[in-house]
Amino acid sequence: RQEQFRALRSVESLTRDGRHISLNMNAGLLVDLPQLAESGAQGIGLFRTELQFMIASTMPKLEEQEAFYRSVIKQAAGRPVTFRTLDIGGDKVVSYFRAQEEENPALGWRAIRLALDRPGLLRTQLRALLKASAGAELRMMIPMVTEVSEIRAVRDLLQKEVQYLSKFGHTLPRKLQFGAMLEVPALMWQLDELMAEVDFVSVGSNDLFQFSMAADRGNARVSERFDILGKPFLRMLRDIARAGERNRTLVTLCGEMAGKPLSAMALIGVGFRSVSMAATSIGPVKAMLLGLDAGQLEAEMNAALDDIRSHEPIRELLLKFAEAN
Ligand code: PEP
Ligand code: MG
Repeated sequence: RQEQFRALRSVESLTRDGRHISLNMNAGLLVDLPQLAESGAQGIGLFRTELQFMIASTMPKLEEQEAFYRSVIKQAAGRPVTFRTLDIGGDKVVSYFRAQEEENPALGWRAIRLALDRPGLLRTQLRALLKASAGAELRMMIPMVTEVSEIRAVRDLLQKEVQYLSKFGHTLPRKLQFGAMLEVPALMWQLDELMAEVDFVSVGSNDLFQFSMAADRGNARVSERFDILGKPFLRMLRDIARAGERNRTLVTLCGEMAGKPLSAMALIGVGFRSVSMAATSIGPVKAMLLGLDAGQLEAEMNAALDDIRSHEPIRELLLKFAEAN
């Protein structure tokens, strides 16, 4: 099967009824980069920058961050890389950056909350990203956004860094694509405002699911208790995809669910056209979608998601659909 997936590497990622689906991979270290060409991924949809911080024993300096991002961009050889700014806290522990003990770290002082309270840290990273992308396109996104004002605050800091660099004669990125991760349910009721502020939205389904179901992603007793392919979560995802269409904003998803063929199929059925996953999942997901009638699936899923009387699990419908295809 491995060989079979390898053969799909250069096959265009189209559903049977001709919809293009962008398949991207997740990464966080330089050792991940060779997989970009091996898997045939279109680009890196999620680059977890905190990995460099997590494996270091002291805080990486500006020069170290910049050199690291440069190597990533160089090895990506022209394929787009979406850098996520630091996502420290919660399940992502950085030993030399010890925040106070928290009773609920997942709901605590983490990611963009921490970065906005320590603007020096964030500005250093923004400067490193801008410098490393000189003359090229810089794609970046912000983790754990809760309110649109946080996006504006990061943009202000970014603007300051741009001004600083141009004042000192540095070459700036040719183009900037600025995105938000959708991981906190509060953003569900700010979708239009959010999409007016960003170039793209990337759903972090691991966190969005944990917060939507109030079920700790790291606690095996509850993390799989609720079905990620159940009505509530799929309706939520469909609302996000529809908001993307309405606002002409690119919507993508980079959580673990994108890498499972049945879940990836469900994502296409609720309107997603772009996903990012572990490199090893690209082959199996591509194999699935090449035979998929996306229009038919969408019609069946919409009917099921809108039917308030049916108690048939959507997972069953998806399994049947996959078998019949
Ligand atoms: C997510 O939450 O789905 C995500 C992609 O980010 P992480 O798994 O790094 O929290
Ligand atoms: Mg997350």
